[in-house]
Amino acid sequence: MAMAGIAKRKAYFLTRNLSNSPSADAFKLSYSLTKFSRGFATSGSEENDVVVIGGGPGGYVAAIKAAQLGLKTTCIEKRGTLGGTCLNVGCIPSKALLHSSHMFHEAQHSFASHGVKFSSVEVDLPAMMAQKDKAVSTLTRGIEGLFKKNKVNYVKGYGKFLSPYEVSVDTIDGGNTVVKGKNIIIATGSDVKSLPGIIIDEEKIVSSTGALALQQIPKKLVVIGAGYIGLEMGSVWARLGSEVTVVEFAPDIVPSMDGEVRKQFNVHLRSRR
Ligand SMILES: Cc1cc2nc3c(=O)[nH]c(=O)nc-3n(C[C@H](O)[C@H](O)[C@H](O)COP(=O)(O)OP(=O)(O)OC[C@H]3O[C@@H](n4cnc5c(N)ncnc54)[C@H](O)[C@@H]3O)c2cc1C
Repeated sequence: MAMAGIAKRKAYFLTRNLSNSPSADAFKLSYSLTKFSRGFATSGSEENDVVVIGGGPGGYVAAIKAAQLGLKTTCIEKRGTLGGTCLNVGCIPSKALLHSSHMFHEAQHSFASHGVKFSSVEVDLPAMMAQKDKAVSTLTRGIEGLFKKNKVNYVKGYGKFLSPYEVSVDTIDGGNTVVKGKNIIIATGSDVKSLPGIIIDEEKIVSSTGALALQQIPKKLVVIGAGYIGLEMGSVWARLGSEVTVVEFAPDIVPSMDGEVRKQFNVHLRSRR
């Protein structure tokens, strides 16, 4: 979970720097005196000490930490669920599918050598996807629970700056509200990037998000990019029966990883063909 870890750390440093500054200490003191009399904030229109735009691992951790320090905090998230890319369309669903496809692969190729035999093993893709979706919704609702517990106000909608202290939010129910904050943390993460001349329709040409929700097992799959996300997605579908080809312009797979890891990983992936 290195990348999410970095995002969390970045947000943590922001709040730590804030809490270490003398003015933040004053904040902390005055708010620690009042925080017990303050109920659960229901509107983002009052002025906040901290507004966080984005409810991913960077944003939600920062929001919770700020609230725990006694700062009045609002988090704005456009997706409608918390947890960002990681929980909704990244780390968690990819690991859920890796786990399920690994079990299928083991049942096909390893169980017999342990004396466990089946007459047949098959994939129930809708059930596998439902299991993944359950993991995602349990965890994203868990973050919402943490917001309530820590009194972080949560506004569901798309945030745009009106001024350095005001964010206009087009809420997902079609309304608009203005959220004011003395400090604003931008934790909007990243988005899928296409390649020139390629239109991602999330059906035939999919991003990692689409690759986590295919309705059928593709006969053949080309993965562009041998970073860890491409290789995870390639591994899932290869284990479920797809013929997977990975295209990478760098001389090796997962270029940012240690040489020995790359070598072993390469051997392992090729042996699975
Ligand atoms: C398939 C896949 C697998 C991954 N696996 C791993 C892994 O195993 N380990 C790991 O460490 N990392 C993994 N990652 C990377 C990880 O998901 C990211 O590093 C992490 O989510 C970044 O967190 P973040 O909070 O910076 O951004 P994000 O998680 O992207 O969150 C940003 C949030 O901001 C919201 N937002 C954006 N703009 C606005 C706006 N204007 N108003 C309101 N809301 C807005 C977005 O909707 C989003 O929810 C994976 C990524 C993918 C795609």
